[in-house]
Amino acid sequence: MDTTAHQQARAGSNDTWESIMESFKNAAKEGPTHWCWCFDRLWFNFSLTKLHKSALKAKGLRDAFLGTVFGFEDSESGEFCGTCARHIMVGGVPRMCLNNGLRFPIVPACLTDLTCLEERCVAVRIPFMQIHSLGIDRQVGLKGCIIVFLWT
Ligand SMILES: [Zn+2]
Repeated sequence: MDTTAHQQARAGSNDTWESIMESFKNAAKEGPTHWCWCFDRLWFNFSLTKLHKSALKAKGLRDAFLGTVFGFEDSESGEFCGTCARHIMVGGVPRMCLNNGLRFPIVPACLTDLTCLEERCVAVRIPFMQIHSLGIDRQVGLKGCIIVFLWT
């Protein structure tokens, strides 16, 4: 419903069509580029909550717990998604926290210089999967298996 107040507000604004389109394009470029400090998933900026260590310490949470959930121990504050922030505020470690053993291991230096063939020879798992078109609305599916080699 277009009221007189809305018409007056629009008439009084200095926004031109070009400036509105430019701000829309800039907002559209801003994707989910911010990460939750607890489990590194990408989020939109408006989806994150900033938590400060000092405020959490004032609530009685211990330093060891804060080191677990913050990951970067030297920073005073961090941004967390809603789920992680809710868990942290009640003193629990989120299930998807990287420090629950979900962090990728560091690749040893001897494995970084391997060729593709050498990687294939020492791999524990070799995927024989193919990506097929399902024929419906550009969907794709996986077909095949993964072979796991058990070295004894
Ligand atoms: Zn999170």
